[in-house]
Amino acid sequence: MPCSRLLLASIHDVSPRFEGEVDRLTDLLRPHVGNRIAMLVVPNHWGSAPIVLNSSFAGRLREWSNEGFEIFLHGFYHRDASRHDSLSNSLRGKLMTAGEGEFLGLSKREAAARIAEGRKLLEDITGRGIAGFIAPAWLYGKGALEALANADIPLAEDHFRVWSPANDAQLARGPVITWASRTRPRLLSSLMAAAALRRAPIKALRIGVHPPDVRHPVLVRSIQSTLSVASRTRTPARYGDLLAA
Ligand SMILES: [Zn+2]
Repeated sequence: MPCSRLLLASIHDVSPRFEGEVDRLTDLLRPHVGNRIAMLVVPNHWGSAPIVLNSSFAGRLREWSNEGFEIFLHGFYHRDASRHDSLSNSLRGKLMTAGEGEFLGLSKREAAARIAEGRKLLEDITGRGIAGFIAPAWLYGKGALEALANADIPLAEDHFRVWSPANDAQLARGPVITWASRTRPRLLSSLMAAAALRRAPIKALRIGVHPPDVRHPVLVRSIQSTLSVASRTRTPARYGDLLAA
């Protein structure tokens, strides 16, 4: 490899609901990282955008996988519909995600069932094992972590690290660069964070983009400059490369 610092790029919330946005995000990333793109796929976004076997969207997932993109399971419904048993988890879920932390309040049994069902769907579509599991909004409750440890999943990540759930080995650390657009203050602070972090001396720098990002030209410009700065001094890589390192 020409340089030991890595760049890991991912597209969140890949769903038939956001097909147009995902295409635009792919076009943004590809000139910088080629096919080294992690697709974080939601099997049935909010319970109303199911990915169906043999549908045209399933065909697109298979094509991306054939092209070398990594296919991650990203929750099942994405939305957090469970009742949390602890107040702190409930507040954390609401404050951080506006209710998108699906795996924050699930029991081990429910988390395991959703992981198994989502995984089977994606693996039936692509004919390959999933690259890993990433919880919506990077939020894992106790049940989710216990289910993951037993699920034979190669990789997971949260906002601060990438790890191997089977043995809890840490594979990468450092915050993900990501953008927010729900409120003006969050949008502005995400622009500042991206500008600072893209030059940070992090060994494996992660950049995660979301469908709503493409609706804001200022975010698109920030994504482009972040990718262009980061790819100048880093080797685009796949998450799976962390396991081989
Ligand atoms: Zn998501």
